[in-house]
Amino acid sequence: MTDNGEVARLLDRHPANAPGDWYVDTRCIDCGACRQLAPDTFTQARGQSLVAAQPDPGEAHTAAWRASVACPTQSIGTLSRQPRPEGLFPQELSDGVYYCGFNSEHSFGANAFFVRRPRGNFLVDAPRWSRRLARPIEELGGIDDVLLTHRDDVADAEQWASRFGARVWIHADDADAAPFATDHLEGLGDTEIRPGLVAVPLPGHTKGSVGFVLEERYLFSGDSLAWDSDRGDLTAFRHACWYSWSEQAASLGRLAVRHRFSWVLAGHGGRHEAHDDEMNRRLVQLVERMTRR
Ligand code: SF4
Repeated sequence: MTDNGEVARLLDRHPANAPGDWYVDTRCIDCGACRQLAPDTFTQARGQSLVAAQPDPGEAHTAAWRASVACPTQSIGTLSRQPRPEGLFPQELSDGVYYCGFNSEHSFGANAFFVRRPRGNFLVDAPRWSRRLARPIEELGGIDDVLLTHRDDVADAEQWASRFGARVWIHADDADAAPFATDHLEGLGDTEIRPGLVAVPLPGHTKGSVGFVLEERYLFSGDSLAWDSDRGDLTAFRHACWYSWSEQAASLGRLAVRHRFSWVLAGHGGRHEAHDDEMNRRLVQLVERMTRR
């Protein structure tokens, strides 16, 4: 059962799920979060996810539970109504950088991240509101700032900011999507939010898209850049570019010149860690491909 009392719907079970306890229902919106979290269990078929193979006990089982909690439509469940384990989220990925889970349908299931730092904790984009997530975040010191990468991934940011008394940052060109924001980023120049944390405007996916670079190590890329796990390379989504593909290429080109990162943490699509030289080389190559097309 999820925190809002909803469960996956047995009557709407996808007919092509692999036989067994775990299933996906047909309310799935194909956000991809479950496939990212538990690729051995979930697969895509005709624009929805379903169970390809029942998870083995152990890590695969935990990953399936994480997918169940992250699922924005609460479409993943078990026939036996197994009790959900506690403490699945936030999930620490690296040195105080956490994936929030609890993806929101309002952001089409975008990933949100929580970061714990002595100079102030912050959220990048917003998960769906949940006391089950707010409690552990409070224990980790709460949230000082909510950083919004663009207009599509605002989700329940207002509720998170209000609960923790946080400032909210968004680019002025996407600001109408978050009228409650306290701080607007302007133009194409970088803004240092605090030492080691920089907002980098990346117009393209939307006019007001922004990436956030932390310690020249982590890039929170929103929907401007992602890792393609199938191809093993950086990617950008031309089919989901709402403002300007050529500007997106130019933005990513500027990013490659101005900043380094070894982690890419995307709203949609995969996340990945590699040496910063390799990431930079792949980013330059991606920009070349984008400008050729
Ligand atoms: S997380 Fe939920 S909505 Fe997203 S692809 Fe999986 S089943 Fe579908």
